[in-house]
Amino acid sequence: MADYFIADLHLDPRRPAVLDAFGHWLERVEPDLGALYILGDLFETWIGDDASDPTFDPLLDRLADLARTRHPLYFMPGNRDFLVGEALARRVGWTTLGEPARIRCFGTPVGLLHGDTFCTEDRAYQAFRAQVRNPAWQQAFLSRTPAERRALADAARAASQRHNAQTADLLMDVTPEAIDDFMRREDLSCLVHGHTHRPAVHRWILDGVPRTRIVLGDWYEQGRILRWDESGYRLETVGLPPVLT
Ligand code: MN
Repeated sequence: MADYFIADLHLDPRRPAVLDAFGHWLERVEPDLGALYILGDLFETWIGDDASDPTFDPLLDRLADLARTRHPLYFMPGNRDFLVGEALARRVGWTTLGEPARIRCFGTPVGLLHGDTFCTEDRAYQAFRAQVRNPAWQQAFLSRTPAERRALADAARAASQRHNAQTADLLMDVTPEAIDDFMRREDLSCLVHGHTHRPAVHRWILDGVPRTRIVLGDWYEQGRILRWDESGYRLETVGLPPVLT
């Protein structure tokens, strides 16, 4: 049995192949699955639990089956699905994790984050994040009709794509100082996050202590997962069917 960590699937009704691949992976992995940690951006957009796209229903049912059959599921919102709320948590049966979360994985204390808070050099993004994570802003947004919300979300997504295209590559990655500050503050030697879509295991020494930062990859060209069991961890890939255009 192993614990699995995933992030940045960016599930989108317009990319049904990824939805299918994720469903198949869940089926395949179930006999080996202990806990499943979803560290944000499971969905490309989420405009409220009351406006869930029916395309996601089979997957949500599948996840609910897993939760019911004693596979603990954990969900941490990302920068695309920060409006996933308690109604969806109840429907699926996952436990919502705040940031940072601290867990113990086969004896090792591990910090979990989506990862966007480490991109401190991208000031424009951090300002946007502060706005949309404000409960008053969220309440105002959720009080609009689903059609209005969808239009606003589409506009925000287009603006974000423009911003990302114009922002230097370096700014899109984590700031090393932000990572070091976090490791010191939380007194952690191991951190797992996603968001940057740059899967890797980084190892370095800070204050004389070996540290590890495991970055999960996205599910664009292939599925990326972190599998962790009593003998250790490894980043693995899952084949996705080629995108037909
Ligand atoms: Mn993200």
